Amino acid sequence: MASALLASKSDLWEAALEVLPQKVGRVTFDSFLRTSVPLELEGTAFTLGVPSEFARTWITERHLRTLERCLAELAEEPVQVRLAVVPVEALRPLPRTQAPPAVPAPVRDVAATRSAFPSQPLNPKYSFDNFVVGTCNQFAHAAATQVAKAPGSTYCVLFLHSKVGLGKTHLMQAIGHYVQAYQPQFQVVYISAEQFVNHLISAIRDNRTEGFRQHYRSVDMWLVDDIQFIAAIEGQTSEEELFHTFNALYETGKQIVIASDCPPRQLQIMNERLRSRLQQGIVADLRPPDVDTRLAILEKKAQAEGVSISRDVLKRIAQQIESNIRVLEGALMKVCAYASLYSVDLTPQVVDGMIADYATGISTARVSIDEITKHVAAHFDVSVEQLKSPRRSRGITDARQIAIFLARELTDHSLHSIGTFFGGRDHSTVIHSYRKVSEAIEKDPQMLWLINNMKTTLSG
Ligand code: ADP
Ligand code: MG
Repeated sequence: MASALLASKSDLWEAALEVLPQKVGRVTFDSFLRTSVPLELEGTAFTLGVPSEFARTWITERHLRTLERCLAELAEEPVQVRLAVVPVEALRPLPRTQAPPAVPAPVRDVAATRSAFPSQPLNPKYSFDNFVVGTCNQFAHAAATQVAKAPGSTYCVLFLHSKVGLGKTHLMQAIGHYVQAYQPQFQVVYISAEQFVNHLISAIRDNRTEGFRQHYRSVDMWLVDDIQFIAAIEGQTSEEELFHTFNALYETGKQIVIASDCPPRQLQIMNERLRSRLQQGIVADLRPPDVDTRLAILEKKAQAEGVSISRDVLKRIAQQIESNIRVLEGALMKVCAYASLYSVDLTPQVVDGMIADYATGISTARVSIDEITKHVAAHFDVSVEQLKSPRRSRGITDARQIAIFLARELTDHSLHSIGTFFGGRDHSTVIHSYRKVSEAIEKDPQMLWLINNMKTTLSG
């Protein structure tokens, strides 16, 4: 090595540890590099021992060049990095701040505040065993498994996102189950953002904010579901409180798992620091399953429910219902119910007939753009044609923007197809409308109320 100072693998790695957090980001550093160990430095080949196969892939795919560049700068000559997975015992111990706090909160106090703010119960069906893995959710599943096995040490923040009905809640609760089973001393709290805000509001009302904070900050694993509601419900106060809790847990090396219907950058939140922290976590999406995964899910589900139904029929259902797993399950249950009630012969035609109203994809499984448009038109006393027309008079524009907003929120149509529906507008108009209404919701409580009501009516 050119630099005499960095002649040994340990010196080189020690020097790298100083600068790597800025280069690869805090989360990757904390999750994978902090505990990694230098194994060998031969010529210019440097072998690093990393904690898991997952870490190896993660670093190889995203950070290998940065790592090599950083080491090369320190060694003052090119370095080739090789990664090898090493057993836990061989890893560097985590520094103190990552360990649980030395002085736990007094048990009685915690128990008292806990009972005041119980965690929502976990659904026993949402286990890893019942979760079917396919290419659509492989990454999310892998990340969730790692988190479950080593909460608070592999990655501090896991951010799961997908459209509705694709398994976020299931996966998140599976983590909770796993930790409760294998590390019962861990305090696991699962809560929807909506419920979190409700707790906050009642705590503020009853002058119990201190207890509220203590409760949430005493958890070891915090599972926050549907975080997108945080902005929609109460605005800044709840966001701030969520951010503080998040930070308190983050800084003490606790495990945080967040589920959302969109990636962090699209979250309608105002707190930029919260957004950037969320973005630094492991962000994993779940996509609609392909037909084979859908079939596997149906088989598993049928087995779990103890119903015997032929593979052909399951295949038929899997082929017809494309994206939302909840809808897929609904269709299966309907077919099972019919079959057992009327002992009908399940020919393909019979099955198709039964699931016809599920089968047109997710947009009708939720609510159609047509219904949304009719509803909005009626509310504002304009016609559907006017909403689709190029006209830009104030009343019509407002109504159209709301319809577009709701179409984006309540259906799975793409920006393009929403634009096409509303008189061939392009996707930037759809984004503009969406943003306009989102801003209005933030500023104007009446608007929030109106949109909330429309959403409830339409999706109910
Ligand atoms: P989300 O929270 O994303 O809206 P859920 O986790 O509630 O979705 O999933 C909807 C339904 O689909 C649940 O009943 C869940 O058990 C089931 N489900 C989702 N993904 C899978 C999967 N990969 N394997 C088995 N069941 C799944
Ligand atoms: Mg959910």
